[in-house]
Amino acid sequence: MIADRMKLIDASGIRKVFDLAAKLTAPLNLSIGQPDFDVPEPVKEAAIQAIRDGQNRYTQTQGIGELRQRIADQLTLQFGVTDPAVLITSGASGALLLLMMTTVNPGDEVVIGDPYFVMYKHLVNLVGGKPVFVDTYPDFRLTAERIEPHITDRTRMLVLNSPCNPSGVVLARQEIDDLLGLARRHDLLVASDEIYDAFCYDVPYASAFGSYENTILLKGFSKTWAMTGWRLGYAAGPAEIVQAMAMLQQYSFVCAPSMVQWAGLAALETDMSEAVADYRGRRDLIYDALKNDFETVRPEGAFYIFPKAPGGRAEAFVAEAIRRNVLIIPGNVFSERDTHFRISYAAGRETIERGAEVLCTLAREMGA
Ligand code: PLP
Repeated sequence: MIADRMKLIDASGIRKVFDLAAKLTAPLNLSIGQPDFDVPEPVKEAAIQAIRDGQNRYTQTQGIGELRQRIADQLTLQFGVTDPAVLITSGASGALLLLMMTTVNPGDEVVIGDPYFVMYKHLVNLVGGKPVFVDTYPDFRLTAERIEPHITDRTRMLVLNSPCNPSGVVLARQEIDDLLGLARRHDLLVASDEIYDAFCYDVPYASAFGSYENTILLKGFSKTWAMTGWRLGYAAGPAEIVQAMAMLQQYSFVCAPSMVQWAGLAALETDMSEAVADYRGRRDLIYDALKNDFETVRPEGAFYIFPKAPGGRAEAFVAEAIRRNVLIIPGNVFSERDTHFRISYAAGRETIERGAEVLCTLAREMGA
């Protein structure tokens, strides 16, 4: 009864973790891909007010004019793009699905840096495209040089994700410019997922938007304002593509949640630098706790760290960590390799400290 295309996607890696985790009572949870702070009060108030004001109906498919205008103004100010087309979506995930469906033909190749955010691989497969993984181990930097040998006449799209989930790498301005130069030379569409833009700790956030015309910017409210359950994001870029995505949204999501779009306006006025500074402190905490026992890159952004498991045997390491009550995710969920594991440090400091201690003890036992 299930369509063939469902055979193209699979969730077995993450399911294994959840199965193991289900047996635990109070695990030290370092697996969660969302902030541990709550939605800021003014944003909650705006959503409640919108409901009371009767903003409970379908909105325009492309999103309420006020929010689209506010985002377009910000993009103009930040990147000098005049009048960018903006589509409000149900999270960045909604934007990703619409983008893949509207731009990737069966057989088209989509270049993805490995390790990657898990959705990219599965959405490309779902629409009949071919994910082409560019291995970026051990420093996790997706460079034009690394990509170049993978370009063929079927290559259609390049996916960028900086700051990166799961590696925490933040690409520098020059690296992004080189990637965009490559995209221009090969006439590729660039999908730039910048959902972690606010979480840059050491180097300034550099965007792929604004210098190469075939760039679709994908952003969301889930991480910066902890609105994961509220489902709000957006896509901006070439009008032709954004319009095609809007047309498909009309026949699928219809619109992003109405009251949440109004709350999005309040979110854009809410400064989150304190929360980000706090996450920077946690980044230091986890990195310093792990650096002597693990081979690991110091993350510069997002809220993940992606260390190498002892001997590069991630599955065994993660299974044992979970048995000892620490929830982490094996690298093969985010990668074609299974040598590393992902920790989310969007957790309390005590959980981070205790979790790191267990992992370090285990690493010494298993022999790094
Ligand atoms: N892109 C990346 C890199 C993510 O890590 C996530 C969430 O984990 C998303 C997109 C999806 O976010 P949203 O909640 O906006 O759909």
